[in-house]
Amino acid sequence: MSWTNTADRRLRERAEAVIPGGMYGHQSVTLLPDDYPQFFSKGRGAYLWDVDGNRYVDFMCGYGPSLFGYGVESIDQAYIRRMAEGDTLTGPAEVMVELAETFTAQVSHADWAMFCKNGTDATTMALMIARNHTQKKTIVRARGAYHGAAPWCTPLPLGVTTADRANQIFYDYNDVESLEAAVKEAGDDLAAIFASPIKHDTFVDQESPTVAYATRARELCDEHDALLIVDDVRAGFRLARDCSWSLVGVEPDLSTWGKAIANGHAISALLGAEKARGAAAFVYVTGSYWFSAAPMAAALETFRLIRETDYLEKTQALGRRLRAGLDEAAARRGFALRQTGPEELPLIMFEDDADMAKGYFWTDALIRRGVYFHPWHNMFFSAAMTEEDIDFTLEAADESFKLLKAAGPLEPVGKLQMAHQALQMLQPL
Ligand SMILES: *Cc1c(COP(=O)(O)O)cnc(C)c1O
Repeated sequence: MSWTNTADRRLRERAEAVIPGGMYGHQSVTLLPDDYPQFFSKGRGAYLWDVDGNRYVDFMCGYGPSLFGYGVESIDQAYIRRMAEGDTLTGPAEVMVELAETFTAQVSHADWAMFCKNGTDATTMALMIARNHTQKKTIVRARGAYHGAAPWCTPLPLGVTTADRANQIFYDYNDVESLEAAVKEAGDDLAAIFASPIKHDTFVDQESPTVAYATRARELCDEHDALLIVDDVRAGFRLARDCSWSLVGVEPDLSTWGKAIANGHAISALLGAEKARGAAAFVYVTGSYWFSAAPMAAALETFRLIRETDYLEKTQALGRRLRAGLDEAAARRGFALRQTGPEELPLIMFEDDADMAKGYFWTDALIRRGVYFHPWHNMFFSAAMTEEDIDFTLEAADESFKLLKAAGPLEPVGKLQMAHQALQMLQPL
């Protein structure tokens, strides 16, 4: 096997000197198995190459943005054409209005759209608009759900004050009673209920929303004149060609989007219903790059592909093929997997693996065989993947199960234990 990581190790040493911690945020490989590369040189279609030239079938898809695959010609050409005319100007180009028209036509609950850069921009703007619309403060949101990395929502409360976290009450996803209790606690101050489209938290099994939970969230918002916000930044257009909660028949008042909407070009969005238009018009939200025209042109072409191709049905079929094949290979080798969430947005962990030792060993073996899986974050498919890529993955998975079997009892993952201990020491906010 020719897999090596010498170039990656060298780059990491240089990074240590000039980048805090060598890397930060969700793309830091600090908490991934030892062999995971930190730096990449290229992405094309379904594949990703690290700086050592190793190729991976990439089931992270840039943590979500790559919906049609890396480097889609028609999307990147739309971007480049718009670049040639001007990208970041003193004001927006016509494409902004065109994109707002296209987006609101695509998503049934939406009457208006605002554009920004990151998912966090959109969720923070949703929070502000809900508070401005209702003239109330309290946000009710699910424990453990990710809504971005601003002080009000970042998962690690370092550098965050209690005041930054004020006016928030938590419930458990899909648990109607805990949602009702949180809303009751908010009393007459409920501004919004935040909901992830599915429970796609890290380290724990995923869950699709029950109709009872989603419907009750809608009712509670209506009873309290609060806004229902669905954070579709990660799952948007990966489960449906509409807001993900169209699948449970519930329309939010606001929805937040990012990641896949321009297939990797930098743009995110907030969509809203008529009733929140006034409140949205007056909050002061902006950014130097929010009106750049080239990512908008890329988004428009992405929307054409969303409408006109079978990308969704294709990724769903690939997801079913992978899930069935992995279950079959695991059983054959004497293992049981916990594959949770929708097949096209899977989280894959092992049964009887509380310390994640099996998961880390297995995904590390997969990395060395050209498959980029994640041991504790949900994964993604791109429409550039083929059945052959899935079969290649299944073969690598089978070999990795075999190695795992041969390895016998494993030590707990040291870096995870350390991270867990560090977390216990942080003040929960
Ligand atoms: C990624 C993500 C965000 C934040 O998006 P950024 O672009 O990283 O700021 C918010 N909500 C969900 C559900 C996400 O997955």
